[in-house]
Amino acid sequence: MAYEALYTRGRPKTLSQLIGQEHISNALARAISGGRTSHAYLLVGTRGTGKTSTARLLSKAMNCDRVHEAQKSGRPLDKKEIPCNKCDSCKNFDSSPDNVEFDAASNRSVEDVTRLLSTAYLAPLRARVKTFIIDEVHMLSFEAVNSILKLIEEPPPNVAFFLATTEINKVPMTIRSRCQVLNFRLIPQQTIAPYLLTLARRLNVTLHEDAAKKIARLAEGSMRDALTYLDQCYAMADKEITLADVNETLGLISDENLDEIISAVKAKDRAAVSRAVTGAFRSGLAANSIAESLITRLRDIEFEMLSRDEKNFAELDKIIDALRKSTGEMYGSGIPDIILEMTLMKLAAPVQNFIAPPIAQNVSANTNLDVGQKIFYDVINYSGEKTMSLKSLADKAVVTNFADDTLTLCFKSDAVAAVFKDTHQNNFEQLAAQVAGREIKISVVIDKNLPPPFLNNMPEPERSNLVNAMKTFQATDAAKIK
Ligand SMILES: [Zn+2]
Repeated sequence: MAYEALYTRGRPKTLSQLIGQEHISNALARAISGGRTSHAYLLVGTRGTGKTSTARLLSKAMNCDRVHEAQKSGRPLDKKEIPCNKCDSCKNFDSSPDNVEFDAASNRSVEDVTRLLSTAYLAPLRARVKTFIIDEVHMLSFEAVNSILKLIEEPPPNVAFFLATTEINKVPMTIRSRCQVLNFRLIPQQTIAPYLLTLARRLNVTLHEDAAKKIARLAEGSMRDALTYLDQCYAMADKEITLADVNETLGLISDENLDEIISAVKAKDRAAVSRAVTGAFRSGLAANSIAESLITRLRDIEFEMLSRDEKNFAELDKIIDALRKSTGEMYGSGIPDIILEMTLMKLAAPVQNFIAPPIAQNVSANTNLDVGQKIFYDVINYSGEKTMSLKSLADKAVVTNFADDTLTLCFKSDAVAAVFKDTHQNNFEQLAAQVAGREIKISVVIDKNLPPPFLNNMPEPERSNLVNAMKTFQATDAAKIK
C-alpha cells in the first residue's frame, strides 16, 4: 500500500478532532445541531491551522444522513458525530460531484471562477447541499470576486460557500460582511506536541517527548507544518524518533551546540565562540538559520528564567538584538557566515581588549572621543580576524575626534592616508556601521607631528616597557629605540 502522508492521515474526521480550534468547533457543533448553518463562511487564519479541513467537515456534515435525522428529531449532536462518516453521503463525499474545491491562487480570473461555479445554479446531483470550497480567496481578481459576491448575495437554494484566506485584509469588505467569519488561531505548542505523540503511538513509532516539543516549536502554530515535519522524520527514522533525528532530518542545530555558542559569548571566550560557530557551519547549516535558532533558544532560556522569577534579561536581550540585526544584514549580503561570526565575536569581545592610545592623554577627556576610539578599535579587532589589511591601521592612524557620527582619523603620512582613502575607507566604514549599529563617516586629516601611533596597538606589558624606556632615554621618537 502506498504511503499516505501524515498530513492527510492526520486530518480531522469529525469536529471533535479539530485540534486547537475549540472555539470554532463548539460554535459549529451548536449551529449544526440546531440546523442553523450559514450559506457562506469566511475561514480566516494562518496556513495549516485547519481552515480547509473545517470547510470539508462542514460540507460533509451539511449532507450527512445521521446529522439530518438528529436535526429532525431534535436530538443534540456530539462533536464526535459531526459528521458520522458512516452514512452513504459521508462515505461518498470525497468523490462527490456536488463538492467543488479549488484554489484561487491558480484560478484567479473571472473565466476560471465562472467555469468552476457554473454548476451553482443547478440542483445538486446527489447531495442535499452543493458545496464550494475556495482556498486563498484573497487572490481572486476584482471581476472574479464580483461574480462570487453575486452568488453570495442572492444564493441559489441548497448551495453553501466556504471561502478560506490567510489574508483577511485583502478580502473586500463586501465579501466579509456577507459571510459568517470563522477566525482560526495559531495552535499552541502545548497542543501540537501531545497530538504528535498520540499520532506516533498510533503509528507504532516511539516519538521522544523532546523531539515532539521541538517539532511543535518549529511548526509555529501550524498543524500542517508539524505533521509535515513529523512525516519527514518518520521517513528517515526506524520506529524511533529522537531529538537528534529531528535535528538531523530537518537540518537543525542541536540545543547543545546552541548552548555552547551562548555560553562562550557570555563567558567572553572568543576562541570558544569561534570553535562552536565553526562546528555549526561544518554541519552544513546556513548562517541565518543558526542565528534564528540562537534567537529562539535565547527566548526559551528567558522564558525558563521568567518561570524561576529571574528578571535580569539585559545580557540575553543584548545578544538577541544583535543577532536580530545581523539576520537582517545577512540577506543578500553574500557573506552571511562572516556577519554571524563577527556579530558573535563582537558580543564576546572582552572590554579590556580596548587599549587606550597614548595620544588620548594629549586630548581633553571627552566621552565622544572615547566612543570614537572604541569604534576604531572594535573595527580593527574584528577586521583582524578576517582581513589583515585593516589591522595595521592601528600603527598608522589615531582617532582625534568623534562628533555627529563622524570619526576623524589623523595620519602622520600623506601617502598612507591616501592609500587608506583609496583602498580601505569603504571597508572601514562598513565595519564601523556594523560595530556601531549606525552609519559612521570617516574624516581623514594629516598631522606631520603626530607621535608614532604604533604604540596604540602594542600589547601590555611591552607597551609600558617601551613607554618607560622612552621616558628613561627622554626619547621623542620611539622608533629609534626599536
Ligand atoms: Zn454521515
